[in-house]
Amino acid sequence: MRSDNNIKLSDNVTAISGVGPKKAELLKKMNIHTVEDLLYLFPRKYEDRRHAVTIIEAPFNQDVLLETRVVTKQISGNPYGKKRLLRVLAEDNTGSVELLFFNGKYLADYFKPGQALTLFGNITLNNGRRQMVHPEFHTTGDKDDVRGLFPVYPLTDGLYQGQMRSMQLAVRETAKEIKEWLPEYIVKENNLCSPAYAIENIHFPQAERPVLESRYRLIFEELLTLQSGLFYIKRGRESSGQGVSVGKGVSLKPFLEVLPFNLTEGQERTIKQIECDLESSRAMNRLIQGDVGSGKTAVAELAMYKTVRGGFQAAMMAPTELLAKQHAATLKKHFEPLGINVRLLSGNTKARERSEILEDLETGDVNILVGTHAVIRPDVRFANLGLVITDEQHRFGVNQRTLLAQKGENPNILVMTATPIPRTLAVILYGDLDISVIDTLPAGRKPVRTFLRYGDSRKKIYDFVENQIKEGRQAYVVAPLIEESEAIDCKSAGEIYEELCKSYPNLRIGLVHGAMKQQEKDFVMEAFASGGIDILVSTVVIEVGIDVGNATVMVIENCERFGLAQLHQLRGRVGRSGHQSYCILVCGSDSETAKKRNKIMCSTEDGFVIAEEDLKLRGPGEIFGTRQHGLPELNITDLVKNADMLEKVKNVARDLIDRDSQLELPEHTELKKRVKKMFGEKIELRL
Ligand code: ADP
Ligand code: MG
Repeated sequence: MRSDNNIKLSDNVTAISGVGPKKAELLKKMNIHTVEDLLYLFPRKYEDRRHAVTIIEAPFNQDVLLETRVVTKQISGNPYGKKRLLRVLAEDNTGSVELLFFNGKYLADYFKPGQALTLFGNITLNNGRRQMVHPEFHTTGDKDDVRGLFPVYPLTDGLYQGQMRSMQLAVRETAKEIKEWLPEYIVKENNLCSPAYAIENIHFPQAERPVLESRYRLIFEELLTLQSGLFYIKRGRESSGQGVSVGKGVSLKPFLEVLPFNLTEGQERTIKQIECDLESSRAMNRLIQGDVGSGKTAVAELAMYKTVRGGFQAAMMAPTELLAKQHAATLKKHFEPLGINVRLLSGNTKARERSEILEDLETGDVNILVGTHAVIRPDVRFANLGLVITDEQHRFGVNQRTLLAQKGENPNILVMTATPIPRTLAVILYGDLDISVIDTLPAGRKPVRTFLRYGDSRKKIYDFVENQIKEGRQAYVVAPLIEESEAIDCKSAGEIYEELCKSYPNLRIGLVHGAMKQQEKDFVMEAFASGGIDILVSTVVIEVGIDVGNATVMVIENCERFGLAQLHQLRGRVGRSGHQSYCILVCGSDSETAKKRNKIMCSTEDGFVIAEEDLKLRGPGEIFGTRQHGLPELNITDLVKNADMLEKVKNVARDLIDRDSQLELPEHTELKKRVKKMFGEKIELRL
């Protein structure tokens, strides 16, 4: 494919000669529809083919560039058959290499003895002979060079690197059409190259420097689009009216007297910050980061107390039914004696009860609503919602948080997470949120002792569990699967439950998993919480937030199947009281990753350290995937590697939105278009 002058940016990819419906379909899978989309598909990396090596020094089995000349060529195989093999012998001053092209008769004319021949591919050793099978090659007069920096694109099944490269080549001229669209002052202040230059060099690099300049420009514009979008959303929420000052003069004392403990230092600090936010006439937007067990719920309760006493309603959303129920129980215990009405709303709330709750919400008779996603359903309406809390925030998307907030008039927003997101990323995920960190654990907690064991010591492990139970404690056993699976070699929760029941007939053992009916789950969970069950065998349904202080052992079967953050959450279910607690990781794999994870888990209980390590092991994509956060897909930016640019671009975006909160200025037209495209339907943008 040659570059074509007549193709426009907005053309469908089928305008490119050689791209028919089939290829267009493949491109569509990669979300590439127009020529512009294609140009904005960026290489993952580059193959450096600038430096040739001699045949003698070329390493085997890895791609090398060779400068050779043709010695001989020969076609073998059945002369009447189709499968004919072309052998070419090539040499340089140090040695020779044999090239094999299966079915390669049609290539024979390219190779003329004595002619220069550049080769790219890997050399294998076959009976003492150096061979290259189907190398890429270039001879004099041949159009496509094999030397230089070669872009390596992300692909989809059925699409090849070579095809992607020639499509890019076909639209090379079109890239010149791309006009500068960033405001001039931003371009100047940040020394950005033009977008046309950036696109040209990202696809057709001549040297490292222009590639770096181009990448900088493209990451900058992508981050600016992302952050302007996030600021835009947030300002949109704020501008619909200033927040109101809530609860001035309301003392927290009556509630503190109901709480069965004294606040830790971290809790005190956080609640002071929240009080300031509530009393100020700006709407609160605060993220509480606190490791598992740090007591975020109590802080949330204080915020709710102040809000309710200040004359407003509060809503709290949790990611799972179990957690919502637990919160509701805690809240009822603390609030009902004070005459504050707490209700639980979930997908399982019976119709009659539901309509009663909805009614009482609208009249203001319900002061606090706790629930699952059910609370953001459109027919849930509040009389005067003043505070919105999302627990375990990392489970929700940006849009879910926004939906809940829209049920009030600029309510105060509090989000709580135990996932210690590195600060730079929190800034992106939560836009402009203020952050409080609860960095102290309630007094008297002993560190959880963590051990790594293998399946063969299962008997010993459970004997240990039995001993703990004899001392009056309880235990969790978590397994990755519900039922036996032939495909995956690991014990299911069901199997483990059966085995334990058989081996320890004197112990009271319960089983919960996600496929059980809600009522059954609740029944078992409640029995465990009240001490009626000694061992709770479960799948990860208990992962988030469950709180049973008397439980001191957490056995995690096939721990290699869980992510680090998940293991940390699970371990956080024990060590919640003064009793010494234990976490036993039963590992079914000796892979390197498993080893690394186990080592980290055994060496630290610090959620921040674990999160950083998790990030390194898994990469940000998996953790901060769009699905989890409602954050748009990024083309070129790596939020971890490019963390240094986040802060800088964030400031630029904030200034820009400060000047033009609706993105109405002509100089922001293209930016607005891009924000809209980036966020798509994922977020309700009033653009
Ligand atoms: P998380 O931050 O993981 O949500 P929780 O709010 O569930 O933690 O609190 C964990 C446990 O610690 C609960 O049983 C709670 O009652 C208890 N707790 C919270 N704050 C304190 C405190 N200041 N002193 C003693 N226990 C506390
Ligand atoms: Mg919690």
